[in-house]
Amino acid sequence: MIYNIYSKRKGFEILCPLGSYPLFLRKNKDDKEELIKFLSEEGTRHKTSSLYVHIPFCDSLCNFCCFYRGLLKETQAIRYLDALKKEIVRYSDTNYVKSSSFASIYIGGGTPTSLRTEQLTDLLALLKERFNIRSDAEITVETTTHNAERDKLEALYENGVNRLSFGVQTFKDSIRNILTLTDTRSEAISVIRAAREIGFENIDIDLMYNLPGQSMDDWKMDLRQAAELELESISPNPLFVARGTAFAKQIAAGEIPPISGNRVEIDMYLLAISELENAGYRQQNLVHFVLPEKEHLYARMRFGSQDCLALGTSGGGFLGAYLYGNVRGINRYIEKIESTNAEFPVNICAKLTAEELMHKYVIWGLHSTEVGKNAFRELFGVELVDAFPEQIKSLERRGLIESDKSMIVLTTAGKVWCTNVAEEFCPERYVTIFEKMFGD
Ligand code: SF4
Repeated sequence: MIYNIYSKRKGFEILCPLGSYPLFLRKNKDDKEELIKFLSEEGTRHKTSSLYVHIPFCDSLCNFCCFYRGLLKETQAIRYLDALKKEIVRYSDTNYVKSSSFASIYIGGGTPTSLRTEQLTDLLALLKERFNIRSDAEITVETTTHNAERDKLEALYENGVNRLSFGVQTFKDSIRNILTLTDTRSEAISVIRAAREIGFENIDIDLMYNLPGQSMDDWKMDLRQAAELELESISPNPLFVARGTAFAKQIAAGEIPPISGNRVEIDMYLLAISELENAGYRQQNLVHFVLPEKEHLYARMRFGSQDCLALGTSGGGFLGAYLYGNVRGINRYIEKIESTNAEFPVNICAKLTAEELMHKYVIWGLHSTEVGKNAFRELFGVELVDAFPEQIKSLERRGLIESDKSMIVLTTAGKVWCTNVAEEFCPERYVTIFEKMFGD
């Protein structure tokens, strides 16, 4: 039954547009101007926020990756960082930032550690100088195991970074080769152990399943190897093969082993849940499994629809009722920042209506596997079950969610089909457009 609740298990291809609902349908200049007014409003004590900083460079490009990133070029990186610093300063002069405190910072990419150590420490120093970062803030840097040299990790640690997220993907060397990862399993493990020796007490690794040629046993070995490392967080994600990419063409041509279908992918996800729970982890959200006393604060804040100021090219943020996306393209971003003295690099912005905010709250919240009824009532002045009566009844009937007095919670089947479930809280008119743009 669990395998065929919907015709297709929706994932990354729908999760991204769904997560930015209803942003990508808007091209409303007025909303952007209103956002700028909102940022300059005086006398408002804003809520605790998170901060996302995008570093769009990698020092080698993995064949399977469809994130927004480019191969590191030193001159371009210098120009990009100059522009990013200007963006930081511009935001830090707004009343919004002056009246906010930041509880979590996520420096993602790309691979931030493809930058030189002093470039990273300069960036961290400027963030600390210009933003009110809480003393207990979670500060994460994404990295890979092939360019996290010990002295670079030490410098990050000394400069306040307290969480690392390593893109490991798999420990099996033959599959690492297929994925064009440039280091070996044992080298990857050594780097993770070195991070622990340096003092990092919150280390996450990304693993991927349903990889080309990966068997269920391979996947089990990856999960067990990860658990043996006694990391605070393990994040299993299914491989997403983007249509029309060189990687997809190589699979189609038989140059790379095929990936499996829905059923195996679901079995691999279920195996991850059982293996990681048996190893003592709790599932914080769809993709993060954490040790009981740990959590990934940035993910909790984002999935909880708390404010997030996003900086850098292609960053997506949410401030007050404003959802926005920055200019996509490294050179376009630099040009936008350099073109005027005060411009923010926002490309698209939507001020969400009360109804859209409710939809967004549930769509994002479900990715934490539960949505609190009290919090919903406090935020929107209406009961969750009254706002979405049909969806909740239908999902309960199909065994995808359960609810009690205080929350609705995804069942195991609901976790498997979460993106499909979340999509049911998205208005039909948007789903139709998503499907046309991003579906099969
Ligand atoms: S290092 Fe990470 S962001 Fe860069 S290409 Fe590989 S998977 Fe993508």
